Amino acid sequence: MPAKCERCQKEKWVTILSAMNEDMICVECLGEEKKHPRYKEAKLMMELESWKGNHDYPGLFAGQRYPFSVPHGSVVTPKNKCMKKGAV
Ligand SMILES: [Zn+2]
Repeated sequence: MPAKCERCQKEKWVTILSAMNEDMICVECLGEEKKHPRYKEAKLMMELESWKGNHDYPGLFAGQRYPFSVPHGSVVTPKNKCMKKGAV
């Protein structure tokens, strides 16, 4: 049974976990995702968490629906995000 791509809703034999959130997506959607201005940042964050042993990291855009919104102004660096998180 083919799996359904959680992004384009098409039935696909191959689905891959998104690097940006928890969606299981097809190759075509992965190609689209790679064009996102924050894809590299999201992928880096995921790799970083993986190295730390956190394999349950849901992704930088967890809980959001594609296309992910890009905030105006400067990009929030992972370092700032951690500091913000620690302060709460
Ligand atoms: Zn798809």
